[in-house]
Amino acid sequence: MPIDPTQPYDESNIFARILRGEIPSRAVYEDEWALAFHDIAPQSPVHILVIPKGAYVSWDDFAAKASDPEIADFTRTIAKVAASVGADSQGYRLLSNVGKRGGQEVPHLHVHIFGGAPLGPMLSR
Ligand code: 5GP
Repeated sequence: MPIDPTQPYDESNIFARILRGEIPSRAVYEDEWALAFHDIAPQSPVHILVIPKGAYVSWDDFAAKASDPEIADFTRTIAKVAASVGADSQGYRLLSNVGKRGGQEVPHLHVHIFGGAPLGPMLSR
């Protein structure tokens, strides 16, 4: 069920619980600002989620409220993680769903990294 990204941050969302260590995840990278882990239901051979540690509902929320160092670190982390999981050598795809039309289901900003195979058209029709 897509979320309403204009709602206040919900501390009980699944990624907040992963960040607090209440739910396990298969982490591939962590630093002061961000965590990256395997998606529980991968849609390509490589399917990693990168999330900021700060409480941001969506990309819009992050762009509006995050500090410049957080934004810089998050951007570089995504590229670093893509390289570390081997998604970069032949290309990969980044995706961040926002709100209802974007199909966002978890109300904590996350960027999907897809790779490991040709990914087909950008959107299914
Ligand atoms: P969205 O549709 O919000 O862009 O993507 C949410 C993603 O989170 C989905 O790809 C879904 O498989 C993934 N996901 C949902 N719950 C969990 C979980 O508990 N652990 C992990 N690792 N991924 C999850």
